Amino acid sequence: MRGIKLDGKKDPTLITWTIKRLRQPARVRIALRQGGRDLAVPCVRHDDSVKAGQVIALPADDFSTPLHASVSGKVMAVGTFAHPFLEDAQAIEIVGDGRGETAPGVGTERLGWESLDRAQLAPLFRQAGLVTMDEAMVPLHVLAQESLTARVRTLVINLCEPEPYVTSEQALAMSHALEIIQGAEILRKAFGAEKITAVLTEDKIQAAELLKSKIYFLKWGHVDVRVLPLVYPQGLDVPLAETLLERKLKLPAEWHRGGTPQDKGLALHRVFRSEGLEILNGASAFAAHEAIVLQKPLFERAVTVGGECVMEPKNLWAPLGLSFQDVFKAAKGLMRDPAKVIAGGPMQGRFQAGLEAMLVKGIPALLALPPEAAPDPAASACIHCGLCIDVCPENLSPVMITLASESGLYEEAASWNAADCIRCGNCTYICPSKRPMDALIDRAIHEQLNSESRL
Ligand code: SF4
Ligand code: SF4
Repeated sequence: MRGIKLDGKKDPTLITWTIKRLRQPARVRIALRQGGRDLAVPCVRHDDSVKAGQVIALPADDFSTPLHASVSGKVMAVGTFAHPFLEDAQAIEIVGDGRGETAPGVGTERLGWESLDRAQLAPLFRQAGLVTMDEAMVPLHVLAQESLTARVRTLVINLCEPEPYVTSEQALAMSHALEIIQGAEILRKAFGAEKITAVLTEDKIQAAELLKSKIYFLKWGHVDVRVLPLVYPQGLDVPLAETLLERKLKLPAEWHRGGTPQDKGLALHRVFRSEGLEILNGASAFAAHEAIVLQKPLFERAVTVGGECVMEPKNLWAPLGLSFQDVFKAAKGLMRDPAKVIAGGPMQGRFQAGLEAMLVKGIPALLALPPEAAPDPAASACIHCGLCIDVCPENLSPVMITLASESGLYEEAASWNAADCIRCGNCTYICPSKRPMDALIDRAIHEQLNSESRL
């Protein structure tokens, strides 16, 4: 596959056998919409006492999931707060009492969890608030229900974690390999898949060997581990599916049109499923294990706090709803003002306007980068170097698409197969003229879709 050997900037000292737990925070704000299309309605009132894992909001419709308190304390308010991916969003604010108490039953092994069947698992996923642990945050009960009318042959657990700096998933694989494999088996049953393939890139050999040893111990012949070359964007779901299927995928208009991260994610999962695949990351498998085996709803996640501006970069378990300011404080704070704060990785993550936003389920990392690591030079004219063509994993000609887009020739951009772009960011990253490739490609695709819908 064409791509880039990125400087991973993955700090090996962060990939440890344990992930640190935060002291109980003073305050969390849990967003009622996590990914955009979902919505939960508060079922607690001002001054109610809550414990971690207790339901604090009920799903507003069949798509949505309940939300759970991530700390013990008192409910202070339902207000409007900064959201990392959406416009400002309503959230339930809880002031922590520092006791770290959990709701009854949370963390207790569920008797007979091994024999739960497909019909029983989807409602349990929903009760636990499980979603895909990426920016899309698609509820797992929705994916499980949709898979009833499809034939999913392989559940793919994507542990490639391709973005620079981000190591929370690798740390999870090192510290909880058995739980990830057992969680994957729970997901395999829920989706009716025949087998599981865990995929990692070659920089994660130790984690791959660890997973293999757990599979050998369990004697599960239907689970295998594949190690792929370290070429970005290999670890993104679309190129990964194309590698496994050995052919290109046709991306749907719904995915290009945008909408909420959940709308886009759902469209992609439907494409994968039509090819017999379901693709989830390791954090999703781990969360399924926690929910089904230990009756622990999704109220915290592993997060990398990194970037050159962070005093002590680390991976940690962070309660959902923690403000970004408090997440950085847990890593001893910022030693200098960051030029960019990013929720996620530098290639595909979302730039943040400040530190007020709250942690939601789909954020694997929070980065604070200085100007030299995130330069923002002025764009200049194309020098026709061809580098963007060399690194495009979809064999496109980004230069021709963007030149056409710049001139308003959207049909011409379409004739260069702009709609096959998977938004990996490679052309933007490599362009020596620092042209806004991603924005120009987006514009070309949207304008073409709009003109088609007007016909
Ligand atoms: S054109 Fe699209 S797929 Fe190709 S490198 Fe650019 S962003 Fe990636
Ligand atoms: S990498 Fe940039 S400068 Fe080079 S051909 Fe592509 S658009 Fe032009």
